[in-house]
Amino acid sequence: MNEKDRADLVVVGAGTVGGWASVFAASELGRVVVLEQGLVGQGASSRAAGIVRAQGGTPATVALGRWTIDFYRRQSATYGTDSGFRELGYLILAITADDERAGRERVAMQRREGIDVEWLSGDGAHDLIPTLAATGHRGGSYLATDGCIDPPRNVRAYSLAMQAAGVEVRERTAFSGLVTEDDGVGGRRVVGIETSAGRIATDRALLTGGPSLRRVGKIAGVRIPAGAARHTVAVLEPHPVFDVDRMPMVFDIGGGLYWRLEEGGLLFGWSDPDELPGEARSINWPMYEAQRARLAQLVPVTRDLGIRKIWAATIDYTPDHLPILGPAIAVDGSPIRGTTIASPGGHGMMWGPGVARVAADLAIHGGTRLVDVTDLGLDRFDEHGRSRLATDPIALPFPHTAAGADDVEEAEHPGAGVATR
Ligand SMILES: Cc1cc2nc3c(=O)[nH]c(=O)nc-3n(C[C@H](O)[C@H](O)[C@H](O)COP(=O)(O)OP(=O)(O)OC[C@H]3O[C@@H](n4cnc5c(N)ncnc54)[C@H](O)[C@@H]3O)c2cc1C
Repeated sequence: MNEKDRADLVVVGAGTVGGWASVFAASELGRVVVLEQGLVGQGASSRAAGIVRAQGGTPATVALGRWTIDFYRRQSATYGTDSGFRELGYLILAITADDERAGRERVAMQRREGIDVEWLSGDGAHDLIPTLAATGHRGGSYLATDGCIDPPRNVRAYSLAMQAAGVEVRERTAFSGLVTEDDGVGGRRVVGIETSAGRIATDRALLTGGPSLRRVGKIAGVRIPAGAARHTVAVLEPHPVFDVDRMPMVFDIGGGLYWRLEEGGLLFGWSDPDELPGEARSINWPMYEAQRARLAQLVPVTRDLGIRKIWAATIDYTPDHLPILGPAIAVDGSPIRGTTIASPGGHGMMWGPGVARVAADLAIHGGTRLVDVTDLGLDRFDEHGRSRLATDPIALPFPHTAAGADDVEEAEHPGAGVATR
């Protein structure tokens, strides 16, 4: 191994998780290297809709959301740059009686966790957001301090912070394997990273990858049941009744449809739970029409608005919609010491910096005070990728399984890409 190329931490992936984790780690370690197979931010992080909420469905996701919003607020003072966070308020709608019962229980849990969320009746919701239909829903949970960021601005913010922190970014450099050795206690430990440009010696690796995390895991010889699916976002033309100063965002959770204002037009996004997992390659126009119809019921003024832009991109998800934060486990079940896995489970704008902070803590100290990670590691999944945890109830309707075509390849080549010495 070329011992001259040595790092205290190698991070795979320069999305919001790898980017911010490298910044946090650089304040405690000497040399932090980030590998990015393409360009910084080119994954999901630059294509997101930017919705940020502390209204999580579990105590852990409430904590990650709160920490992340506090981080966005402190950002300018800490780093001299920001991700464009705007506090807009977020209403999570209930359409059915079941939605309302679940929503009220969720509010009780969230209040116990310390967030000032409230339940608005149908009339209360309509009074707060006059563009929302007066009927056809039962109000919902509302938190005034939720909001949104500008995803490309977030990429810029962590890029500048990485530069200021002295993080070494290697673009167009792909991670191609872990180098491990026997740890003497029944497992292995990382001693290096293989890349498309040679080997780096290190005792610490942090594997991120967003929608590609499953593949990154496979390269490392780690089974990660993270999925990838099409997610579509569109922006309509402006309408004079939109309150461009502060119109709260809304999530029609049953329909998997959310919206907020973007440069005066209404931005809305959705996922299709019936779609097979895989990379987004095109716009599903019939699905777009179906979502427009649902939107027109809930926001009647959108009915005849023209479309300004639309994009489909590949979103990451996990089978229980919760983040993955914990040590790497080899396909044979043994730990790979010094290697940490981090996935925001499709919520990288609302949890990403929090997930990154936890990931840096785990990589450096083996523990964190931000959130209880006992249940968030890879060991919660069985060999079929099924989680033993209850699903986070506030999430997009992602496909119900993270299994994809590459499982076949994995079964045929378990542990491919692991080098030992
Ligand atoms: C259309 C859309 C809308 C979304 N809207 C929201 C939203 O409103 N709110 C929210 O919270 N979340 C949203 N998300 C989800 C959010 O964008 C992701 O959860 C988040 O960006 C994931 O961050 P990441 O750093 O884990 O992954 P990424 O940003 O995808 O970064 C991973 C990086 O790893 C690199 N990589 C992969 N393999 C290798 C390798 N072998 N070697 C080196 N580098 C590698 C990739 O090139 C990539 O740059 C949205 C996503 C999409 C697609």
